[in-house]
Formats: sequence, C-alpha cells, structure tokens
Amino acid sequence: MAEQTLVLIKPDGLKKSLTGNILTRLSEAKLEIMAAKVVCVTRELASEHYCHMQAKPFFEELINYLMGNLHDRRKVLALVYHGDNAISLVRGICGGTNPETADPTSIRGAYGRITTKGLFENIIHASSALEEAEREIKLWFKPEELVYRIYPVKTEEKVTKTLVWA
Ligand code: ADP
Repeated sequence: MAEQTLVLIKPDGLKKSLTGNILTRLSEAKLEIMAAKVVCVTRELASEHYCHMQAKPFFEELINYLMGNLHDRRKVLALVYHGDNAISLVRGICGGTNPETADPTSIRGAYGRITTKGLFENIIHASSALEEAEREIKLWFKPEELVYRIYPVKTEEKVTKTLVWA
C-alpha cells in the first residue's frame, strides 16, 4: 500500500554532518521524496510533535534536543517520503529507538548514542504508524508544501502579512 512517512534529521544528525549519508541510506528504500525543508523548531512545535511523551521524565530534555539546544544547531531537516510500505521500510533503515540495542548497521545503531543524562540521541525520527504519519505530516508541513494532495484540503480566507524579496 502506498503510504507517506515523516522523517526528521535531528540536530545531532546535522551537527555530525550525516545528512548526505542518511539520505543515501534512505534512498535504498526506493521511495519518493514529496516534501523537504529546513525548520527552526519552536518549543510549541517540539512539544506538539512529542505530545505522547509528556509524562516521561526526560520530556524536557527531549524537547531541548529536538529544538537543537543540546547541539547548538537550532534546526532540523524535515522530509516526507511516499511509496509502498514507506513507514516500515524507513523505520527499518533507521533502526530501533535505543541506539545501543538498535541493529548496528541501521542509522541509529551506527550513529546514535545515549547521553550521560540518559537521553537517546538517535539522529533521526521516522513515523511509526499511518495515523501518526498523517498527524506529523500535517504538523510539520502546509498543504502547498507537498507535491501531491495526499490529504483533503479546504480553502480559507486569510489576511496575513508575508515577507517578499525587497
Ligand atoms: P521513536 O523515536 O523510535 O518513535 P519514541 O516515540 O518512543 O520512539 O520516543 C521519542 C524519542 O524520545 C526517541 O526517538 C528518543 O530520542 C527519546 N526516547 C525514547 N525512549 C527513551 C528512553 N527510554 N530514554 C531516553 N530517551 C528516550
């Protein structure tokens, strides 16, 4: 079944200059990139992305991690991949959540680490289920940023100020 999945190259992946390497690894899945952008992650966006982790003792550290506060890189690279079995294919290439027990040939197993505070710095995020992928893609991307209309859209009148080239 054709699916979409959200991938985030987290700030440690950017700091370690792993972007090219990660994109090459992901290309093994023969999926299509249907959106990509660099995002400065606000506290609101990080908290919303990890809303299911709110009760965890490491939540605050996790939010700081995604915001880039632990790596002096206040950005992530966000991508949407599309294709058959995209979710499980990408998760397989990323490896398990814990980088110490992840398959050592996976991205997380090869490049992740556990900090002295116990946080899993695991380089990459990938959606783990269909509903999660839809929620996450809608959180990180606007409809017009995706090359295909994968979810229903509606039009809304908005009066906003936008930046244009001076
Ligand atoms: P995944 O990222 O594999 O989907 P989760 O959604 O459970 O896993 O966790 C979100 C993120 O929180 C992980 O990617 C990792 O950075 C961190 N994390 C998860 N579990 C732990 C843990 N037990 N100890 C420390 N950090 C964790």
